[in-house]
Amino acid sequence: MKEDKNICYVCEGQIMSEEDLVICENCNHIYHKICWQEIREECIHCKNKICKEKLNNEK
Ligand SMILES: [Zn+2]
Ligand SMILES: [Zn+2]
Repeated sequence: MKEDKNICYVCEGQIMSEEDLVICENCNHIYHKICWQEIREECIHCKNKICKEKLNNEK
């Protein structure tokens, strides 16, 4: 089985649903949506403020 763990960079909890998942557009660290809001929508790794949501995959 493939390990596919989505671990939030803030709380280190697993992100269970993709609705809850946001990805920093710059460094690709992943966050819970609520954790992302808690860090005031600024990536604690790279200070980037733009995230993408996995749901919006339109190209
Ligand atoms: Zn989290
Ligand atoms: Zn980042």
